[in-house]
Amino acid sequence: MDLEGRVALITGASRGIGRAIALKLGSMGARVAVNYVAADLQNEVDAREVVATLEQMGVDALMVEADVRDGEAVKGMIDAVVSRWDGLHILVNNAGITRDTLLLRMSEQAWDDVIDINLRGTYLCSKHALKPMMRGGWGRIVSLSSVAGIIGNPGQTNYSAAKAGIIAFSRSLAREVGSRGITVNAVAPGYIRTQMTDVLPEEIRNRFVEMIALRRPGQPEEVAELVAFLASDRASYITGQVIGIDGGM
Ligand code: NAD
Repeated sequence: MDLEGRVALITGASRGIGRAIALKLGSMGARVAVNYVAADLQNEVDAREVVATLEQMGVDALMVEADVRDGEAVKGMIDAVVSRWDGLHILVNNAGITRDTLLLRMSEQAWDDVIDINLRGTYLCSKHALKPMMRGGWGRIVSLSSVAGIIGNPGQTNYSAAKAGIIAFSRSLAREVGSRGITVNAVAPGYIRTQMTDVLPEEIRNRFVEMIALRRPGQPEEVAELVAFLASDRASYITGQVIGIDGGM
């Protein structure tokens, strides 16, 4: 139970990788705040299921609504977590979207939505999480980047830019807050099977698998293992890093 006594907030935890991270951190003893965005009724239904599953595991869990793009909502969410458990130790910036298309066809809306949810959301949540972390003298910020943010991907200029931004953001913030006992790292998954990638045409998914040394997509639980390690005391000397988890892509 490496995370006994820790309070963790995972954004976009209603499904996919975020859900797997919430369950993993809960299984390691953390109290878990499950963030979701009310934009779609299904998100609320899914978030409720995640909280119910955590509670069945005996984990103290809380459902917190906020659109990560909205500064006021993010501040309210973090205040709610801190007032419930008197602190916040672990933030996982997982909420993210794609709006894939070639640059010549990319609308300003598709650009802004992807930058705002992935990158601005990471900025806002990290900023508001820092104060309670500093007060506690211990903190872990782990953000979901992507291989697309390292090597690029056609049709994903917006997403790649946002995910590369998360890497640079994490490296810089790590230097700002290291002296306060807070580590800041990014993980860069390759092709993981979730609803985000299930919508891709089969031909593209097959092409991804051919590029992967292990010849299969990753599972959300495999990403959750890495995030859980980075969120624990065992990763005490790792900060400002981006760690790939892509089956050898
Ligand atoms: P997913 O679409 O299943 O989950 C994304 C979650 O983010 C959903 O719960 C969604 O409701 C939430 N979300 C979207 N907009 C939000 C907002 N404004 N505020 C709060 N929550 C919001 O996708 P996933 O595959 O589980 O992806 C999780 C993270 O991992 C994302 O950041 C994604 O970019 C990253 N990632 C995924 C893959 C992959 O292959 N699946 C690869 C690399 C990186």
